[in-house]
Amino acid sequence: MTEKTESPRIHLLDPATINQIAAGEVVERPASVVKELVENAIDANAGSVTIELALSKDTITSIRVTDDGSGMSPADAECAFVPHATSKISSLEDLHRIQTLGFRGEALATIAAVSRVTLTTKPRGSGGVPGTRIVIEGGKILETAATGSPDGTNVLVEDLFFNTPARKKFQKSKNTELAHIHELLEGICISHTDIAFHLFLNGNELLVTDRTTRPLDTIARLFGSEVTRDLVPVKASLPFITITGYVSRPALSRKDRARMLVTVNQRYITSQPVSEAIKAGYGTLLSKDRFPVAFLSLGIDTTLVDVNVHPTKKQIRLSREKEITDAVRTAVRDALFAHDLIPAVESPAIVRHLIPGPAAVNSYDFSVPPQAGVFELTHAGTVSTDKRLRQTELSIDSQPTYIVSSLLPEIEVIGEFGGIYILARTKQDELLLIDQHAAHERILYELVSGYAKETRPSQELISPVILHRTTKEAAVLRDLLPALAEEGFILEGFGGDSFLVRAVPVVLGRLEETTVIDEIISDLVSEEASQNVSNRERITRIVACRGAVKAGTVCTQEQCQRIVDQLRMMQNPFTCPHGRPTMIRFSRKELDAMFHRL
Ligand code: ADP
Ligand code: MG
Repeated sequence: MTEKTESPRIHLLDPATINQIAAGEVVERPASVVKELVENAIDANAGSVTIELALSKDTITSIRVTDDGSGMSPADAECAFVPHATSKISSLEDLHRIQTLGFRGEALATIAAVSRVTLTTKPRGSGGVPGTRIVIEGGKILETAATGSPDGTNVLVEDLFFNTPARKKFQKSKNTELAHIHELLEGICISHTDIAFHLFLNGNELLVTDRTTRPLDTIARLFGSEVTRDLVPVKASLPFITITGYVSRPALSRKDRARMLVTVNQRYITSQPVSEAIKAGYGTLLSKDRFPVAFLSLGIDTTLVDVNVHPTKKQIRLSREKEITDAVRTAVRDALFAHDLIPAVESPAIVRHLIPGPAAVNSYDFSVPPQAGVFELTHAGTVSTDKRLRQTELSIDSQPTYIVSSLLPEIEVIGEFGGIYILARTKQDELLLIDQHAAHERILYELVSGYAKETRPSQELISPVILHRTTKEAAVLRDLLPALAEEGFILEGFGGDSFLVRAVPVVLGRLEETTVIDEIISDLVSEEASQNVSNRERITRIVACRGAVKAGTVCTQEQCQRIVDQLRMMQNPFTCPHGRPTMIRFSRKELDAMFHRL
């Protein structure tokens, strides 16, 4: 082999190229520029920050951020654009006690590397001394001059990505970019309610907040005062964490996680473990696919938080994550259960839509009598419902009474409707509509979950029940036999794909119709196992659902009263285990409004 002598292939990049590459990480899009500049203003202790965006055709052509913060001396102003120049930390140790949003000294250098920046600044309280103006383009200083300037700093960014065409092209439509900026500012406003923010687009005001000591004012400003009506305060303090803020009553839930705003040490962040902990605090108050609205600010010992995970610092790493998320979950749960969570009927306007107009009335056919059997109580039906209710009642009585006072007021049953809803009233002149199945399901659920592992009572069937399954189902079921046994279901193989059920949990009562067993096993084998829910929890929920009095079962007034009395003893009487409400309340005032009696 002959070796050719070539000039070396490896060489150092020039600083301009290095900065452009670094810009790829810090300055992804226009919103990143806004983020970095606003964070610098906050770090400079500004009391007011104004963001002005200019838009022409379909791109954001300039971003200006003005603050009334500390400002910079002429020397500092020039130094601010040097990569890794920062006034915020001086050593590695400082990283563990970061109180500022910035510390990497990268933002101004990288923004200036991919745009044209005009910085005007003057130190606060410097009197008649002139300020400094620096123009820098693609990393090269074009101009430095003394200039007249108010106290504080004003950074104008134009021609963003002029020298990185790929990124420029990559910019999404203006609406996407504006949405990013808007969302970012919501987070920043929430985490700094003590600063006034103004966002303008081509001179039009898009978002404004005032300086306030009441975070609720800021929330109302940003998300509407209707939202604040459905929030309950959260407050918890442990040696390594303080948690303050608001979470929504379950009635105000969403399909997505977009309204769960979390700040850690006044930094707006996204943290999946923390979001999950908030959701977990709702337990069965919300269904799997619904998410709460939450504004939580966590104060965590800075040594436990690593913000230096990514250049944008939106993600953080938490030491003692488990303890922190446990604290969040508990704080949310305690806050919820300290408050009345019965959803009120929505606005009268919505109810009006439910009342048919004249045209719709014609489509009702009043000539057909109600189906016999559905509305008439049969003696046999009453007796079997009675048995079911008694079963849970007895078991409740034998439970330790850890619930000292009920979260619900005293409730008096007035009647029932359609075998589905219980009509009731409270002493506070409220009308309640209670979902009979959901209520009983909640009762069974808490009862079964309340049993300690060793004492989940089982009851032998007088005659064992035979279940036939498909081969696939039988395989799933075989795997679940130990988990089922722990819950009180004693099943054994009965040749081929058949099983013999010898005993069931006591709460299912003295089963007369054994179809319930078949339903429970069917639910269990057909439902996909989820990682977040243990087998015990799944079985408990299914038993509660299948064991509860079914919708359509007409109950006597006395039976309804028993359901309601049992429900009042529950830890969470507000929702069924799937997160549906157990009751809806109409206050006298709301009813009066619906009838225009005001
Ligand atoms: P970092 O914020 O990580 O320190 P930057 O590149 O964003 O890095 O800013 C560099 C330095 O410039 C900051 O440390 C700060 O001293 C100064 N600076 C930047 N923006 C402002 C501002 N709006 N007001 C006062 N000083 C500022
Ligand atoms: Mg910065």
